[in-house]
Amino acid sequence: MSVKRGRKFLNTPGPTHVPDRVMNAMHQPTLDLSDPYFLETTKSCFQDTQKVLNTSGEVFLYTSNGHGAWEAALANVFSPGDKVLVPETGNFSNAWSNMAKALHLEVINMPGNWRRAIDPALLEKELKKDKEQEIKGVLIIHTETATGITNDLPLLRRAVDSANHPALFLVDTVAAAGTVDYQMDNWGIDVTVTASQKGLMMPPGLGIVAANAKALSVHQHSTMPKLYWDWNTRLQAEDYRKFCGTAPQLMVFGMREALDMIFEEGLENIYERHRVLAGATHAAVEVWSQAGTLSLNAIEPKERSTAVTTILTDEGVDANMIRDVCRDEMMVGLGGGLGNLAGKAFRVGHMGDMNAPMLFAALASIEATLRYLDIKFAPGGVTAAIEHVAQSKKVGKGPFSY
Ligand SMILES: *Cc1c(COP(=O)(O)O)cnc(C)c1O
Repeated sequence: MSVKRGRKFLNTPGPTHVPDRVMNAMHQPTLDLSDPYFLETTKSCFQDTQKVLNTSGEVFLYTSNGHGAWEAALANVFSPGDKVLVPETGNFSNAWSNMAKALHLEVINMPGNWRRAIDPALLEKELKKDKEQEIKGVLIIHTETATGITNDLPLLRRAVDSANHPALFLVDTVAAAGTVDYQMDNWGIDVTVTASQKGLMMPPGLGIVAANAKALSVHQHSTMPKLYWDWNTRLQAEDYRKFCGTAPQLMVFGMREALDMIFEEGLENIYERHRVLAGATHAAVEVWSQAGTLSLNAIEPKERSTAVTTILTDEGVDANMIRDVCRDEMMVGLGGGLGNLAGKAFRVGHMGDMNAPMLFAALASIEATLRYLDIKFAPGGVTAAIEHVAQSKKVGKGPFSY
């Protein structure tokens, strides 16, 4: 058995590295469920989640992962037999739509290209076809974690409005919250779904849902069987109802600390840091790609996610091998290809509690792995990433200033 020293690096697009501050904040004794200190902490977490999502809507926290938050959203606003429209973005839109089918919703799939963002014109056309307005909801993935592509939510919302369609607009921002601007109220988003373990710098274990007034009103007519997920249960007066039973107390303490860190840095600074780190990653991949074996999945630069980069590998290059060697030899965790991209892509997460040196470590380890595996690549990717970060200092907003 080989002993590995030094810190393990986590560059998967979820879960992400958890800051020591957050872990330390969770190291507290469990409490009486009605301890005022805990109740105050919980209340502030609900309020600050509204600030992060830019909404005055109702926030719900579940002891779950993102899948739980997905189910909570669907179960609260739909009834069995309801039609929902799901524009395909990649593995995560497929998974959410499979969940909708499991809940007996009728899914209309709008086929999409895994290398491009959702086309708003297509969405408008699809909704206009629905003359009887039977579609009850549109399910949008904000950042598709499988492809590394971020959809333009205001444009998509406008498409729904141009079609004059009353469907609810539901957005999964699991891989985008805390990495890129998100304006739930201004952008007309009725239901938001997210989770703790990606850009929000918490451990896995909290599912987060927000609902506006329209969603809460539609909810009153939902006949989907539910109890744990039910918003009505959670909106009752007693404190223990908020979590439908025992609260995940230590997770809430971690959340409090993560939210403090978010506001200390400031959302605009956080988004800028993510832009710089994503740009550095893209710069590295663009250099490596010159040898013709690797390529960025997201063709259109402005559609590239600031949270995750998906790198395609040519036939004959085993992407899983790159991932395995990086993890087992370099102690750098990367994401694998998902769905159609299984074995044909690997993914680098650059979101959450991440700075330039942490990213450089990942990129350098990838470059070393490519060399080790004799995979053709053009050298100099890491240098390009360093250059990108150093240049960003010139506009006074680089990671050096954080
Ligand atoms: C990670 C992720 C999910 C699922 O989250 P889990 O916590 O793994 O259940 C859903 N949607 C997107 C876009 C994600 O990136």
